[in-house]
Amino acid sequence: MDYYGSHINRLIEELQSLPGIGAKTAQRLAFHIINMPPEQVKSLAASMTDARANANYCRECYTLTDEELCPICKSAKRNHRQIMVVETSRDLAAYERTGRYEGVYHVLRGVIAAMRGVGPNDIKLKELMARLQAADGSLLCDEVIVATSSSLEGETTAMYILKLIRTLGMELKVTRIAQGVPVGGDIENTDEVTLERALLGRTEM
Ligand code: ZN
Repeated sequence: MDYYGSHINRLIEELQSLPGIGAKTAQRLAFHIINMPPEQVKSLAASMTDARANANYCRECYTLTDEELCPICKSAKRNHRQIMVVETSRDLAAYERTGRYEGVYHVLRGVIAAMRGVGPNDIKLKELMARLQAADGSLLCDEVIVATSSSLEGETTAMYILKLIRTLGMELKVTRIAQGVPVGGDIENTDEVTLERALLGRTEM
């Protein structure tokens, strides 16, 4: 159905390849872009290229950032001995929106999912363990809050983390967020009040 011509069609197709964008939305966005002042279009395109070129992962917590250390890891106001383990940077953002968490994070960048062939070595677990204990065995942290989702994969990952910490003989507090987060529901889309409640109601694993 080539009634727009190849340039416009290409834009529609590119937009449609983005998550959550269907054919109608892609068309609406494309028309919006076409009607924008050329300078604004240039700026939009440049912002995409720039963000992509500068995107990096924090060397401490592995969240998406464009600096070597993310602003949270860099902050002296945060409690660096309390580490909340989340699946993605979007989950981190969701907890930050509650404004009630003062510790730092560790972003696994995934969950253990045997069905999809994702094993413990495919997510940032080794990196988490390295943050908990110094080479001489002294603990670098007081509490690990496991905030993976309550899906089967999230639970499997949570149990694996606990097992790993205990196997390594670390005597630190490991807590799990309360089940306020809907089963299988993603943390990113959970409202702040529910997340805050889940955080405050966490229990020891
Ligand atoms: Zn960080």
